[in-house]
This record gives sequence, structure tokens and C-alpha cells, in this order.
Amino acid sequence: MKPAAFTTPPRPVAVEELFPELAPLRREAVRLHPRAGDPTRHDSSVGGPLLWPADEPWPVCDEEHWEVESDVRHEAAVPCVPVAQVFRADAPAVPYSPGTDLLQVLWCPFDHEDCAPLPLVRWRDSAAVGAALPAPPPHPGAPREHVPRPCAVRPEVVTEYPDADLHQNRDLYDALRNRLDQLERDTGLLYEPHLSVAPGIKLGGYPGFCQGAWWPDCAGCGQRMEHLLTVADHEYDGETWRTWLPVEDEGRVPGADAVPGLELGGGGGVYVFECRTCAGRPTAHYFDS
Ligand SMILES: [Zn+2]
Ligand SMILES: [Zn+2]
Repeated sequence: MKPAAFTTPPRPVAVEELFPELAPLRREAVRLHPRAGDPTRHDSSVGGPLLWPADEPWPVCDEEHWEVESDVRHEAAVPCVPVAQVFRADAPAVPYSPGTDLLQVLWCPFDHEDCAPLPLVRWRDSAAVGAALPAPPPHPGAPREHVPRPCAVRPEVVTEYPDADLHQNRDLYDALRNRLDQLERDTGLLYEPHLSVAPGIKLGGYPGFCQGAWWPDCAGCGQRMEHLLTVADHEYDGETWRTWLPVEDEGRVPGADAVPGLELGGGGGVYVFECRTCAGRPTAHYFDS
């Protein structure tokens, strides 16, 4: 039986009453909440087995890639490793590609030109897969900190407001600043870590940038791409656990939740974007740390 979704407590203050300007910027995200588990290829998971058709070759990266944080170029082609697969029923806030009910994200775990594992996205109709191909073992030299350990997920839809993106909207930020400061004096709550963007691995909503906001434009149509997936290397930091810890985790030590075992450069993340209007949904990615 599928485990129940985790439950993030509601924001401790009514964000849209205090800051009505943020209401039109509200977005829904799906927090995956990966926790150690034994998912099958028929489950949504992080780092778990993928429902991959036997007649489709497993993806291999032959881009230029390097050993992690070194100048040593890794010459071999490398099998991609599973990062996440999510069935549509577990991600009601995400617009799936038409005719599909399964999102799969893999990446090459070595470093690439922009210093990140290189992601790859597949959309599938799970009913059409038939016989499944088991994943090849990760390359023996694959950096362990870029190969997520298998985790079950407990997907949950939450409401978000812009964080890094708010700081790029100078007029809006200036209009809110005094009220944000007043809220902090009255309640101790900080807008960015406590009220805006959910931490951890998630679909949709706002990217969990740890540096400034950066959005790619689609090479095909020139439009700004949409955020599909944030892969963060931790779920909580010294502040975010105060309001984003799900009730199921209460009493556990915040920070002990880095279950997939990823290290992306000290609090960093990999962000996957897509264009939902161009054919084939082209993707792009960004990395910060
Ligand atoms: Zn590669
Ligand atoms: Zn496009």
C-alpha cells in the first residue's frame, strides 16, 4: 500500500492577508520528501528503479565530463543514473506532457562544463512500457555524492511565494520591505526561509535557488522556460526546518534528512527547466552551490 503523503504545517501567518501583492504570484509545488526505502519500478521514487522499456537503450552520457571538483577528464561514456521518477497521480500540481503519466529524470553523475551532473528528462505512458529494462550499475568511478540512494517518496502539494525571484522585482520588494521587517520584529519570522519557497527535492513551484534567480530562455521559441524539478542536496537548514518540517518528522533532528545522500557543493541544487509549448518539451538546467 502506498504510504500517505507527508504534511507540511500551514504557513504560521496568513501570507496573502499581510502581503496581498503576493497573491498573484502564488504557485503550487510538489514536495517529494524522499526517505530511505525500497521502491519498485512501479513506485514514484528518488534514486529508485525506473520503469524503462526493454526495447529502449539505457541513456549514456558521452559529453565532456570530469571527475568531481578536479581537472581530470573522465574519458569513458557513462550510464546515467536514476534521479527521480514520479507518476502523475503523485504530482497533481504538475502539467504532465499530453498522453503521459510518468516523469523520469536521470543524470550523468560526473561534472560537466557548468560544474554539475547533467540531467535528462523522459515522459512516458506507463501502460505502454511492457517488459522493463533493469538499470545498469553506476559506473564504478561515479562520484557517490552524485548518485542518489534509493528513497521512497511521500509527495505533498504545498503553496509557495517567490524568494530569489522577489529580489529581482525591485519595485515589489521595496513595496513589501517595511512590512516584512515589521513581521520579523513581531513574530521572528523571516519571509525567505520561513514563508516563501519549500526546501528540498520538489516539482513545480519556484526553483529552490541557493544563489540568485536564473531562468533559461527556450532556444526554440525564445520564451522563458518553466521550472520542472529542483534537486537540492538537503531538505532543511538552520532556518527552514522551523516552518517546513512535516508533522511526520517532528522530534527528529533537523538536517538528518539528507537521505538520498547527495552533496551538490554545500547546500547547492540542480534545477531542471522545460518549455511546455515547443514540440518535445525541450529542457535546460542550472546549477548553483
Ligand atoms: Zn557526463
Ligand atoms: Zn520553446
